[in-house]
Amino acid sequence: MFLSARVARARISASAASAQRTRELRAAGVDIIGLSQGEPDFATPDHVIEAAHRAMREGQTRYTPVDGTPELKEAIVAKFQRENRLTFRPENISASAGGKQVLYNALMATVDAGDEVIIPAPSWVAYAIMTEFAEGVPVWIPTGPENRFKITPAQLDAAITPRTKWLMLNSPSNPSGAVYSRDELCELAAVLERHPHVWILTDDMYEHIVFDGQRFVSFAEAAPQLAERTLVVNGASKTYAMTGWRLGYGAGPASLIRAMARMQSQNSLNPSSISQAAAVAALNGPQDLVAQRCAEFQLRRDTLLPLLDAIPGLSCTRPDGAFYIYISCAGWIGRRTPGGQVLATDADAAAYLLEQGVAVPEGAGYGLSPYFRISFATSLEQLKEACRRMDAAARQLG
Ligand code: PLP
Repeated sequence: MFLSARVARARISASAASAQRTRELRAAGVDIIGLSQGEPDFATPDHVIEAAHRAMREGQTRYTPVDGTPELKEAIVAKFQRENRLTFRPENISASAGGKQVLYNALMATVDAGDEVIIPAPSWVAYAIMTEFAEGVPVWIPTGPENRFKITPAQLDAAITPRTKWLMLNSPSNPSGAVYSRDELCELAAVLERHPHVWILTDDMYEHIVFDGQRFVSFAEAAPQLAERTLVVNGASKTYAMTGWRLGYGAGPASLIRAMARMQSQNSLNPSSISQAAAVAALNGPQDLVAQRCAEFQLRRDTLLPLLDAIPGLSCTRPDGAFYIYISCAGWIGRRTPGGQVLATDADAAAYLLEQGVAVPEGAGYGLSPYFRISFATSLEQLKEACRRMDAAARQLG
């Protein structure tokens, strides 16, 4: 066969598959509400778009240093100081085509065959797929509503082996919306202090979408004693509604950052020069939109939760951040659809919802079943209509 064994490991994520199916059905004229998308439904701020125009006109259209321009690295250093009380230098910073590429660089630069990567379940699917890409072994720690989808120090301790390379931590979490408090992070850090070979990747991508007035705390801020083995991942996508611009960044020890740049230099080279200029404007410019948009997400969450709670067979844990709800559909498993099919898995439940006009990714892709994820990065009207359809779907089950 012409294709490599590696490509078979590049599974398509449940959310991408669901979004693709939505596009196909819509193109065929079917009325589908898509709740799969992991991106804000807002526009990129005007001043960011203007900065990109300016950069193009001023000739910032050429290759840049591999992992970011000095201006961008300075803006990222300033952001970490201002927002996270973290002190970095430019040599600690690496910019890439999205947080996803930062993660990819980090894993490809550090994981050898058989190395283990600890991943809380449920988690963003890319952690496990990329670990497998690097010939590493994902080690899932299951969580549940009883701990609000957060791992405990005892679970972490039990999961660590001599082969453990990384712990992936994502707060606020995609897909559960779980947010770790400073105390919880300190307790995990206390375990990690006893295991000096384990590195920590803190994925802070949703840091600005935290509800009910809580202050976001990065693992890096809670555990400065572990700075020499912590990589912070963040980016412009979710904070500034810039998913399409592809601009993410990592911050960590200079030796790791240099290794990541080496991976990137033989892959894509620098992130788009124009996106870098736009990100400088986003990071250095006015930040008031960020809080306004978070308030809008909170309003949607608060509108949705009672509607979802009223749907027979579903149960929700209130997310404290991000724009997702991870919904248990345990009450639907074993039930029969009007078409006569028994729902055996969450993939069946997602397929049934699609028939009823609502597209959602199933929980299996995130490592914890039987669940499905909904994104509330969609208008309130659409969300209410989606709840109406899900309720009708639930009431037709035999
Ligand atoms: N981390 C998490 C938890 C995500 O959900 C995503 C995107 O969905 C990313 C990182 C990467 O985002 P991007 O590559 O757009 O920066």
